[in-house]
Amino acid sequence: MSEIPKAYEPGDVEPKWYRFWMEHGYFTPKIDPKKKPFVIIMPPPNVTGELHLGHALTAALEDIMTRWHRMKGEPSLWLPGVDHAGIATQVVVEQKLAAEGLDRHKLGREKFVERVWEWVKKSRTSITDQHKRLGASCDWTRERFTLDEGPSLAVRTAFVRLYDKGLIYRGERIINWCPRCQTALSDLEVQHKDVTGNLYYLRYPLEGEEGFVTVATTRPETYLGDTAVAVNSDDKRFKGLVGKKVVLPVLGRVIPIIADSAVDPSFGTGAVKITPGHDPVDFEISERHHLPIIKILNPDGTMNKEAGPYEGLDRFVCRQRVIEDFKKAGLLEKIETHHHSVGHCVRCGTMVEPEVSKQWFVKVAPLAEAATKAVKDGRITIIPERFTRVYLNWMENIRDWCISRQLWWGHRIPVWYCPKCNEMTVSIEKPSKCSHCSDSKIVQDPDVLDTWFSSALWPHSTLGWPEQTEDLKYFYPTSVMETGYDILFFWVARMIMMGLEDMGEIPFHTVYLHGLIRDEKGEKMSKMKGNVLNPNDAIDEYGTDALRFAITTGTSPGNDINLGPHRLEAGRNFANKMWNAARFVLQSLEAHPLDDDAVAKLKASRSKEVEDRWIISRLNKLIINVDELMSGFQFGEAEKQIHDFFWGDFCDWYIEMAKIRLSKSDFSPLPVLAFILDGALRLLHPFMPFITEELWQSLKQRLPGNSLDADSLIIAKYPAGNKKLIDADAENTMEAVIEIIRSVRNVRAEHKVAAGKWIEARVYSDELQKEIAAKSEAVETLAKARPLAVLSRKERPSKDEKAIVLVLKESDVVLPLKGMVDVAAEKKRLDGEISSLNREIERLDGRLEDKSFLSKAPAAVVDKEREKLKGYKDKLSRLQQELKELS
Ligand SMILES: [Zn+2]
Ligand SMILES: [Zn+2]
Repeated sequence: MSEIPKAYEPGDVEPKWYRFWMEHGYFTPKIDPKKKPFVIIMPPPNVTGELHLGHALTAALEDIMTRWHRMKGEPSLWLPGVDHAGIATQVVVEQKLAAEGLDRHKLGREKFVERVWEWVKKSRTSITDQHKRLGASCDWTRERFTLDEGPSLAVRTAFVRLYDKGLIYRGERIINWCPRCQTALSDLEVQHKDVTGNLYYLRYPLEGEEGFVTVATTRPETYLGDTAVAVNSDDKRFKGLVGKKVVLPVLGRVIPIIADSAVDPSFGTGAVKITPGHDPVDFEISERHHLPIIKILNPDGTMNKEAGPYEGLDRFVCRQRVIEDFKKAGLLEKIETHHHSVGHCVRCGTMVEPEVSKQWFVKVAPLAEAATKAVKDGRITIIPERFTRVYLNWMENIRDWCISRQLWWGHRIPVWYCPKCNEMTVSIEKPSKCSHCSDSKIVQDPDVLDTWFSSALWPHSTLGWPEQTEDLKYFYPTSVMETGYDILFFWVARMIMMGLEDMGEIPFHTVYLHGLIRDEKGEKMSKMKGNVLNPNDAIDEYGTDALRFAITTGTSPGNDINLGPHRLEAGRNFANKMWNAARFVLQSLEAHPLDDDAVAKLKASRSKEVEDRWIISRLNKLIINVDELMSGFQFGEAEKQIHDFFWGDFCDWYIEMAKIRLSKSDFSPLPVLAFILDGALRLLHPFMPFITEELWQSLKQRLPGNSLDADSLIIAKYPAGNKKLIDADAENTMEAVIEIIRSVRNVRAEHKVAAGKWIEARVYSDELQKEIAAKSEAVETLAKARPLAVLSRKERPSKDEKAIVLVLKESDVVLPLKGMVDVAAEKKRLDGEISSLNREIERLDGRLEDKSFLSKAPAAVVDKEREKLKGYKDKLSRLQQELKELS
């Protein structure tokens, strides 16, 4: 039997049990067709490095669910994985190269990708290690990486299927271009920031006559790509101008003035420049009017040859030159300050350029229709519910998804071009020749797919799709998709679309969205603010269980969490409290080993001690509540209730009362202590897996034979509540006893009575006199009250000596003043209690006279309020009596 150290040292305990669980294969579920599995696919963290608190929260919540279902006997799969994170990873490795004075173009594609793989291998190990430290009970034998062979085959298969159905196409569209990353971005990869810029009013001279048209723009350099000036069709100011032409200054290009209903007559002068190569609205107008499209930028953000004399200049330098040149020619009418929103690359922060580009797109509308239906008809539930509307709104306004990226790190687009016949071959496997003319000189598309394309397939690709594997048949659709609300669109929505498309079935039944972790003051954590808390550091200082407790307890789905030292300390204090309580129980069991059948006997017969029946009743009530809360995804509340039970009912009251019996060689509380400790550890295990396993194993060692049903707590049965063990009488009595002890303790503290001093007390009660009297030893010891008498109210003398009288729910407690307190202070206390009671009575009176309350509230509620009022009035008259007697 191993000794129980005095203090809890998480660092000694945690790695030991993780190894133990791994060695026994507890994380790998057995496929059992007779049982319904519980399945979570882990949102794959980006391979770009260290896990942050958001990952820790994800891991804690998913582990809570998985461990809970596993303990309920369901085959539980939590499948871990890592995302190659295309653009994010490429940017990180490029920065490392830059530090060495290199860039990817100098290195070449093949060498560059090798470098990324090297880095990725290191990073993956660190991510796995961190998950292990967090106690994540995921099945490492099924771990997946988005670039693994299986998920890659899934990506190519999904692409080709969509292409064959006409849902993937290649076309010229306006996309967001990052000149730093030199790739197209999807709308979701662009962050819009409000900036204060300028609105420039430029004059374009009319062709062949005096006069000019003035247009306003925030990006004057784009005039180099103008192919028309447009006015609103209904705008009377420009009636005579439509059909005429203007000459672009410096360039000398002549462009028409056209009318279109999309022009906003209230912007600038009402006449706008049309730059179809660099603006989405202009692009649409150009399609209607068959205007030419001119692109003026190189991929790196410098001006190309269309810019004439400005060729080679950086886009922002060019802007200044253009302004100067217009000014010199007297064609700059004015400059106004202008607030507007400008898109920036979410990865590198560079200002993006909208520009026309030939890219691959997914036609999303048909996919969105099915995904909308799945949520509307309740096949998929989103928690918290308020995100359902957010999801549906987004689906309604969804635009085609640009999926090609001009990057080197990622899944290559499975399309090959034939220079001979100019046709494309779209194929899952690498073709040896053109499918149209059979020429063998075909070239693969150099681009890769948006990272989120492979992420969208994650629930089915990780389980083996497109192969019909055992895993896919058994574990799909999965149970819960747990993730942050910030990637509802990036990811969750797309998984629903692609799951339905590829599998014909939803990918998961429930979407659980957690909130963000903020700092103690509620501010977002960021490196810039220096308020980032690293999970590894928190674990070093407080232990994993304390961290998990701190980020999950008392929280609810979708709401942000403020985390600071206070919460972490509370977690650590709770672990220590648990340790000390368990240590007491375990040492007592060591000193007085239980009989083989002690726990069985306990379950079979009703204890004659009220606190035994009470704690068993409380535990069963708790179990029933916890089950309901966990089923409703209220993990934070369940955890809080278990904490309160353990700390309050069990440690503060039951153990303290048991100590009195044990000190008198009455060992009857031992089976109850063992039984309650076992139950509490089981309830807590999903939340705080390490300390509970450590203590449970120690308990198992100290109990006879097969008292506990499993080799490890991780696979022990989660408790099921028994309503028959709920004992209202025992709860009522114990409530009264606890109230007496607590009130006497309060008086002692209020009047600064020395801790070691005994004070006299008399308890008067009618209904519970016998029951309270049976516990008088506990009251004596825990309230430090001696001599103590428990009497019936009838026995109370009509005139007490000067005393403090506590008027409680089931009893009156009289504490004679003799030398204990001063009378003036006592009068003041009674006055205070009377006036607050009067306020309560007034409030209740008002409520019971309120016609609308009376008509709306259920009869039971009204009766309860009346009952309460009666109790208050009764208490008031007793208090007034006490006050009178003091004077
Ligand atoms: Zn960028
Ligand atoms: Zn060909």
